[in-house]
Amino acid sequence: MPKRLYIAYTGGTIGMRRTADGYAPAPGWLAAQMAAMPELADPRMPSYDIHEYDPLLDSSNMQPADWVAIGQDICAHYDGYDGFIVLHGTDTMAYTASALPFFLQGLAKPVIITGSQIPLCEVRNDARSNLITSMLIAAEYPVPEVCLYFGQKLLRGCRAVKVDAAGLDAFDSPNYPPLGVVGVEIQIDRTHLGGQYARHKTKTAKRGEPGIALATPVAAATVGAFRLFPGLSPDLLRNVLQPPLQGLVLEAYGAGNGPDRDAAFLEVLAEATGRGVVVVAITQCLAGAVRLGEYAAGSALARAGVISGHDMTAEAALCKLFYLFSAGYGPEVVKQKLGESLCGELTVAPGRIAG
Ligand code: ASP
Repeated sequence: MPKRLYIAYTGGTIGMRRTADGYAPAPGWLAAQMAAMPELADPRMPSYDIHEYDPLLDSSNMQPADWVAIGQDICAHYDGYDGFIVLHGTDTMAYTASALPFFLQGLAKPVIITGSQIPLCEVRNDARSNLITSMLIAAEYPVPEVCLYFGQKLLRGCRAVKVDAAGLDAFDSPNYPPLGVVGVEIQIDRTHLGGQYARHKTKTAKRGEPGIALATPVAAATVGAFRLFPGLSPDLLRNVLQPPLQGLVLEAYGAGNGPDRDAAFLEVLAEATGRGVVVVAITQCLAGAVRLGEYAAGSALARAGVISGHDMTAEAALCKLFYLFSAGYGPEVVKQKLGESLCGELTVAPGRIAG
């Protein structure tokens, strides 16, 4: 039996066409391009159904509700397909790839998010190889997690970041090895695959073993991100931390440091964490982890109630905050779960608290 794939096209460069205003998505255009590709008609390729979203979005327009809608779509078609491809714009691809693993609980089939820097309709493009290789991996390789495939690398979705606005090797996962590399052969590194996370479930997931469950949001979640910079005004941060904000990703310096000589800054943080805002520090560096006790400038953040985001990416930390608050957890449980690896987003054993 040929394998069957479900392809969700959300928008993005891969399926865009040239218009007078520049590249833009157009309904039906991607499907027509794919129908004209002889490679996809080869009997060695899986069969596929394309579901095009309405409206097709440049991923800069994506909202958290879109992550949940993609998750719903995958759950609704889960039993009928061997694997899933999400064709997505690159700009916020790392956010969607980071969010889906939290929402798709019990996932045991490949979900591969891909796109391209150059559309399929151009003569020279990266779309063709990203699409074909993603389809082959989703059909033939037992990768039971949400991945991002781009530029010959298969990455864990919740570890991926966009690192290049123009290069064809646009994504990386600096704190986690690639799940696979693609050259003459497709090589999957099984030692880094995360099947163990398939059992992760929260109270919002519809139970029903085996199978997939969507962690349907039960509460409105308001989260944000703030990058420290030299000269920042405590008033600016105070404004950011106003209700209804529930959680903030604080992009701190180095190993999780901030301006500990600025008492007003620390007071703003302490006031917000004291009324239940969860402030989680991650590093502005591309790689490495937060260790709040390493410097006095980090210990001061911890005393102000900031907690460590360990080696999470900014994208994963934001999506995790959104997921936990939308699951209806209170601040104390959110803080506890931020230290646990729920779907491989940080470097500790599943269910363990990071040190
Ligand atoms: N602006 C586009 C998007 O994210 C860029 C791309 O697809 O690569 O939808």
